[in-house]
Amino acid sequence: MTRQPALFVSHGSPMTAIDSGELGLSWQALARRLETPDAIVMISAHWMTGIPMLGGHAKPDTVHDFFGFPAELYRLRYPAPGKPELAQTVKSLLSDAGIAAGVDPRQGLDHGAWVPLLTLFPEARVPVVQLSVQPDRGARHHWAVGKALRPLADDNVLVIGSGHMTHNLRDFFVDGGRAAPRTQAFRDWAHEQLLEGRLDRLLDWQHEGPYASLAHPTPEHFLPLFVALGAAGEDVAVEHLGGGTLGGALAADNYRFSVH
Ligand code: ZN
Repeated sequence: MTRQPALFVSHGSPMTAIDSGELGLSWQALARRLETPDAIVMISAHWMTGIPMLGGHAKPDTVHDFFGFPAELYRLRYPAPGKPELAQTVKSLLSDAGIAAGVDPRQGLDHGAWVPLLTLFPEARVPVVQLSVQPDRGARHHWAVGKALRPLADDNVLVIGSGHMTHNLRDFFVDGGRAAPRTQAFRDWAHEQLLEGRLDRLLDWQHEGPYASLAHPTPEHFLPLFVALGAAGEDVAVEHLGGGTLGGALAADNYRFSVH
């Protein structure tokens, strides 16, 4: 069996679930190339905790953690099963790496998880375990979390980091994309570091990246990238999968990381 890759997806607006746009089309293209895993560990930018937490429910709810969207969106469900024993396995892997973690048996799948999964695995048969981010801890912590998860790919478990390449919502909703040229400069920088394998620079993104604090006024949507990078392996091929931008303001790039 081949080793599973790791993915970073920009999860877009919840509307991507019903109106695919360029981002949804990029997920559709990706979906056709994925080999069905035995399970998925999905890091969502929308689950923020102090230590890494794993969803441990056998039948996680679809959580509609957004407001003011069309009713149709609230009727969508992603009924994939959970996998409580995998949640425990991941907790053990993290513990072996010196990272304290926990399992929340009530946690459902938030929109950072289920919106892309609706397109990537529409049959919702593959079990999903959600993993949280720690906004108060930096890129290196998230990379270490990913590195601890590295053995999972050989067990046919797909690790997906779900966040956003840039995520300035104020610019998206209020400022009409005025910051977009500068956040795009950050996107171009991050894209280049990824393709050239400059992990150290990426890990220092808040200092090295141009307009980093404008591209990510808060870090939680960029941190899943580091979990995916860490999980993929030491010497990875990086493939850009497109995704475009949302409203010209939020970069929505997607990447696949696989061992050479
Ligand atoms: Zn989000």
